[in-house]
Amino acid sequence: MRLELLASSFGNGEAPSQRQHLSCIVIDDVVAFDAGSLAFSCSDRQREQIRDVIISHSHLDHIAGLPLFLDDLFSTLTGPVRVHAKAEVIEVLERDVFNWSIYPKFSELSNSNGPVLEYRPFLAGNPFTIKHLTFKPIDVNHMVSSVGAIISDGKVCVGITGDTAHTEAIWKEFNDCEDLAAVLVECAFPDDLTDLAAVSHHLTPSGLASELAEFARPGVPVYAINLKPMYRDQIVEQIGKLGIADLHVLEIGRPYDF
Ligand SMILES: [Zn+2]
Repeated sequence: MRLELLASSFGNGEAPSQRQHLSCIVIDDVVAFDAGSLAFSCSDRQREQIRDVIISHSHLDHIAGLPLFLDDLFSTLTGPVRVHAKAEVIEVLERDVFNWSIYPKFSELSNSNGPVLEYRPFLAGNPFTIKHLTFKPIDVNHMVSSVGAIISDGKVCVGITGDTAHTEAIWKEFNDCEDLAAVLVECAFPDDLTDLAAVSHHLTPSGLASELAEFARPGVPVYAINLKPMYRDQIVEQIGKLGIADLHVLEIGRPYDF
């Protein structure tokens, strides 16, 4: 399974910046898990192939690229882009984003081939299949209704927490996943901002270490994602000091094969 955390911006020259403002993980170049940077940094191949987008929750950094992705594709789509999310997240998208004021209500629009946006609501705990991939959404503890997921391609599984504070249940799910090849876990703030992390339901390196104490799969690599860009250097240093084997920071804009 190939995963790529798309770049939020491009720094020196054309190299992807490691500052992550937005969240969008592309799986096997066909499905996007969150759409933060989807329209901005996907490759032409990804833009051509991605017609399924899973939204973990409604925060801006996870949805920012979705309206523009639909806009880019509007006239060329031969079938709708399918947005998979919990019903309450779909409700927020329709009420607060695709409301004609912020952006067009694409769910009511068609091009010459038919509808351009279709919602596929899911329930946490109920797996669903997109192409060769199976997704099991798992509720996590964040400010708004949010899910992480276990993604399987039939050979390996990868776990993604999405944005979350302490969530015991997801580690149990990861522990029980037979072919687990990697876990991507958020770590948004440095330890100095533990209070801010607590009120915004995010993790710090110390919080991440506490979560990993519940992770009983030695040898399975863990990658930190969703580091707030202004604190990235501090967070990377503090994660390094934890001295936890197989704990890394995921590189932005680099495809990983698991
Ligand atoms: Zn969030």
